[in-house]
Amino acid sequence: MERLQKVIANAGVTSRRKAENLIEEGRVKVNGEVVRELGTKVSTRKDTVQVDDILIDKEEPVYYMLYKPKQVISAVSDDKDRKVVTDYFEEVKERIFPIGRLDYDTSGLLLLTNDGEFANMMMHPKNKVYKTYIAKVEGKPTKEEIEALKRGLEIEGIKTAPAKVRLKSTTKQTNSSIVEISIHEGRNHQVRKMFEAIGHPVKKLKREKYDQLTLGNLKPGEKRELKPIEVKKLK
Ligand code: URA
Repeated sequence: MERLQKVIANAGVTSRRKAENLIEEGRVKVNGEVVRELGTKVSTRKDTVQVDDILIDKEEPVYYMLYKPKQVISAVSDDKDRKVVTDYFEEVKERIFPIGRLDYDTSGLLLLTNDGEFANMMMHPKNKVYKTYIAKVEGKPTKEEIEALKRGLEIEGIKTAPAKVRLKSTTKQTNSSIVEISIHEGRNHQVRKMFEAIGHPVKKLKREKYDQLTLGNLKPGEKRELKPIEVKKLK
C-alpha cells in the first residue's frame, strides 16, 4: 500500500505537493469515492485512482532479473555518473528500480520491478527470503568458523540470524576457499562483514540465488523478465 499523494505523483500527473492540494480540494477519487484525507493508503494494483474524474495511468507491474556485473551501482542514478543497473533496461518504459542492493563489487542476481508493494514484501525481515552467495575467501575457514557463521555472530553489536553455510573447496596455490552461504537478512555488506568477523576476508562475491530463482544461462549484463509463475511463487 502506498500513500495516495505518492501514487498520483508517481503516475507523473503532478508533484507530490500539488497532489496533496488536489486531494484537499476534493478532486481525487479512490474506487469512485472522493477522498480528502492526506496519506490515505491505496494499492496500486487493486485500487483505481481518478483525478478530476480521469483515471490515472497506472503502470502494469513488471518484474526482471539482471545478472549484475561487478562495478555497477544498484540504483537508478548516480551522482558520479557511474554505470547503474537501470542502464541495462533502456528500452523498458516502466519506471523500474532494484529490489535491495548488491555492493558495487558484488556480481549476481538482482531483481528489478516497478511494483513497490512487491519490493517491500521481498525485503521485509519477517518474510525471511533467503539469498544465496558464492564467496571466494582468503584461507581455509575451520569447522568451528563455519559453525560460527551458521549459528550467527556479532556484527556491530547485533547478532546475525542463523545462516546455511557450506565449504565447497579450497585451493592451496591461491590460499583461498569457495564457500556457499545463504542468509535471509539484508544488512549492509553483511556477507563481507561475516567473513571478516571469522578472519577470512572476501576476495570475490556473487549472488547465485534469490529465494528459488537462479541466474540460469544469463551472463553478466544480461537480463530477463520473470515468468508469471515465478513471480507468483515469490509472492
Ligand atoms: N552481502 C555483501 O556483503 N555484499 C553484497 O553485495 C550482498 C550481501
